[in-house]
Amino acid sequence: KGKCPEDGWDESTIELFLHELAVMDSNNFLGNCGVGEREGRVASELVARRHYRLIHGIGRSGDISAVQPKAAGSSLLNKLTNSVVLDVLKLSGRYKYENIFHLWVRVMNSVCLFLTYFLCAGVQTVTNCFVVPMATGMSLTLCFLTLRHKRPKAKYIIWPRIDQKSCFKSMITAGFEPVVIENVLEGDELRTDTEAVEAKIKALGAENILCVHSTTSCFAPRVPDRLEELSVICANYDIPHIVNNAYGVQSSKCMHLIQQGARVGRIDAFVQSLDKNFMVPVGGAIIAGFNESFIQEISKMYPGKASASPSLDVLITLLSLGASGYKQLLKERKEMFSYLLSELKKLADNHNERLLDTPHNPISLGNS
Ligand SMILES: *Cc1c(COP(=O)(O)O)cnc(C)c1O
Repeated sequence: KGKCPEDGWDESTIELFLHELAVMDSNNFLGNCGVGEREGRVASELVARRHYRLIHGIGRSGDISAVQPKAAGSSLLNKLTNSVVLDVLKLSGRYKYENIFHLWVRVMNSVCLFLTYFLCAGVQTVTNCFVVPMATGMSLTLCFLTLRHKRPKAKYIIWPRIDQKSCFKSMITAGFEPVVIENVLEGDELRTDTEAVEAKIKALGAENILCVHSTTSCFAPRVPDRLEELSVICANYDIPHIVNNAYGVQSSKCMHLIQQGARVGRIDAFVQSLDKNFMVPVGGAIIAGFNESFIQEISKMYPGKASASPSLDVLITLLSLGASGYKQLLKERKEMFSYLLSELKKLADNHNERLLDTPHNPISLGNS
């Protein structure tokens, strides 16, 4: 069914499963003799084992999501990973509601439980996603490049400021000029200046703007962008909206913002890091969105084949955690965050400092 199993699998089950995938690739066929230039030849046995003999990578020359006939196992791995990851993206958005509803559920019966899950599933609307073997910045670049031929006159990207170099460079590398919108200080929080965004769009002309590039996960005192307002502005001016959700999957609040933005306005794609959200080595990201054909267009923009390693790592991780294990980690993170907040407050008081009051930031805290 392509869903993340509720309970995690043990190591030997996962290995058996990976071996079954690997024997479907032609390089592992008995008596195979490939004469092409790319036949999954590997000199070192150590390297072969490190990759579970899945040597073909993913995609075909024209599309990173396409099926490769020579490599049925690797192709299946890729499809499964994308589908399991999609399931988990939905789960993270749903998680917030589950907490509220759990209170009810304790009081009411199992009919209500069914209703709860029905309602929960109804709030999430992510329709498509795929794993790319590039980190977040390059994945954002790929999104911008996909938009380029749809908006031939566009030169600018509207970008509410965030002090992070790779998201800035993602726009430069794609060949666009970032138009920095300074945030406004509200109490201790730095928040999106939506009026300035709209004024800039009017001044530059909507057709000259490639997209609005907003951010959810960020360091305090900046807080996640006002995604609802930005999404509405994008819908009104017919401007694409790309969201940098670098480490936002592990925060139900960030996922909820994306959900709401897409509901009331326009979000074309949102990008998240694999290592920051799924505890795997650096090397991959997930590009997700609400419009299947746009997400497919992005995957078709990727030139050539790609490494299967990031997909393999995240699939192994999610199979071993299971949905319940991942949810448990989300819950622990949330509890640790409130503990960190209360202890940091004490520390600040003891040293004549002040913990900044940034309630809209669910991930980061700052002292002053
Ligand atoms: C980590 C991060 C990036 C860049 O991520 P890479 O995976 O290193 O490309 C961009 N923006 C924000 C907000 C980040 O936290």
